[in-house]
Amino acid sequence: MVKEVSAQNLENTVRKLVSFETRHSLSSTTDKKRGIGAARNWVESEFQKAVAASGGRLTVTQDKYLVKADGRRIPADVEMANVMATLKGTDPSDNRIFIVSGHIDSRNTDVMDVKGQAPGANDDGSGVAAVIELARIMAARTFPATIIFVAVQGEEQGLYGAKHLAERAKKESWNLVALLNNDMIGNSFSDETNLRDNTHVRIFSEGVPALETEEMAALRKSIGGENDSRSRQLARYLKEMSERYVPQLEVVLNYRTDRFLRGGDHTPFSQAGFTAVRICEMNENYQHQHQNVRTENNIAYGDFPEHIDYDYLRKNTALNLATLASLASAPASPENAGIVTSNLTNQTELHWEAPATGKKPSGYFILMRETSLPMWQKKIYVSETKVLLPYSKDNYFFAVQAVDAEGHESLPVVPKPIR
Ligand SMILES: [Zn+2]
Repeated sequence: MVKEVSAQNLENTVRKLVSFETRHSLSSTTDKKRGIGAARNWVESEFQKAVAASGGRLTVTQDKYLVKADGRRIPADVEMANVMATLKGTDPSDNRIFIVSGHIDSRNTDVMDVKGQAPGANDDGSGVAAVIELARIMAARTFPATIIFVAVQGEEQGLYGAKHLAERAKKESWNLVALLNNDMIGNSFSDETNLRDNTHVRIFSEGVPALETEEMAALRKSIGGENDSRSRQLARYLKEMSERYVPQLEVVLNYRTDRFLRGGDHTPFSQAGFTAVRICEMNENYQHQHQNVRTENNIAYGDFPEHIDYDYLRKNTALNLATLASLASAPASPENAGIVTSNLTNQTELHWEAPATGKKPSGYFILMRETSLPMWQKKIYVSETKVLLPYSKDNYFFAVQAVDAEGHESLPVVPKPIR
C-alpha cells in the first residue's frame, strides 16, 4: 500500500484545490468554480470515486453544522461542512474508529478576507490531498476497524470543523481510538535558514492531557507519567510504523502540543479527551503561509503548488498510511493493565485482560524503557495475559500492546499500579 501512494496524484489534488482561488470558510457556497462550496463538492466527488472499489463499505457525506457569530472570526452565523468518507470496518464485533484529517479551508494575510486569493496549496491542500489519497488506496482493502477520512472546514476561523467532529464523536459515544491531524505536510524548504529537508517530519503530541481529571493527575504524578500520555504513545507508534515501512523518512517527536502561537485540529479532540496528534513538516516557509499573493522586494509571497515538494508529501502520506493500516488491522489495546506494587521486589509483575472489542489477540508485547529515554528499548512477546519480568518496576517504564498472528500491533497502554 505504501508503494501505491502517488506523488503525481497528490500534486493533481493540490493544483485542483488551488484552482478554486480561495477556500476561505466564509467564501461562496454557491459559485460553481470559486470558493469553499465548489471545493467541498469536488472533494466529495473525489471520495465518491473510491466507493466502487470498497464494495459499498465507503460512504461519503458533507457533515453540515451551524457556526454561530463569535465576535472574532465569524461575523454572522454560517453553515459549514466537513467532507467525510467513512470506511466501515469489516468486523461487526469491532467498534473502533480511527480518523485522519486535513483542513479544506484557506486564508491569506487577513483572516477575514473572504474575497482575496488564498491558494492554500500547502496549508492545507497538502493535508487534504493526503486524506484523499489515503481513502483511494485504503478503500480497496479491508480492515476490521472503521476509518474516517475527513477534510474539515473552519480551521483558520477557530478550529470549528474539528470542534464539531470531536463533539459529535463524544455525543454519539464513538470508540474513537486516535486522530491523525495533517496540517502543512508538503514544504521542505526554508528561505530563512536555506535548509532543505525532506527526510524529517514532526509529530506534536501533548504530555499532560488537556482533559485530565484529578484522579488522572494524581496517577500521573505518582508514576512519573508526564511523558506517557495516550497521545504520546500514538506519537511513538507513528514513529515506529513510519520508520518500519517508509524509506528515507525519520519522525521527530515534538514533545509539545503545537508550535508557539499556533494551534490545530487535533486540539479540540485532545480537549474532548481523545488521543490526537499533529503531523507537520520539519521546516515551515513563512513567505508562503497565510500571505497575500504578491511580489515584494523580489520575493514571491503566497501559498502556491510549485512550492510543495511532492515526493516529501508522498512520504508523509505514506507515514499516515502505514500507521492507520497497522492500527485498523491490529486487535484493540489490552484492557485493565496493571503493575503489581504490593511487594518490595526487584522484579515486575504485570497483568491485563484481552480487549473486549474486535478480534482476540494472538499475544502481547511488553514494552520497556529506562525512565529517561524517549522511545521504547525492549519488546518482549508473551502469549499469556500476565508476565513476571526480572527487571525492577522502579527502574523502567512499561506498556503492553496486543498483537495478532500477522504482527499487527495495537497502541500500547500503560499499566496502572494495582495491589
Ligand atoms: Zn493549517
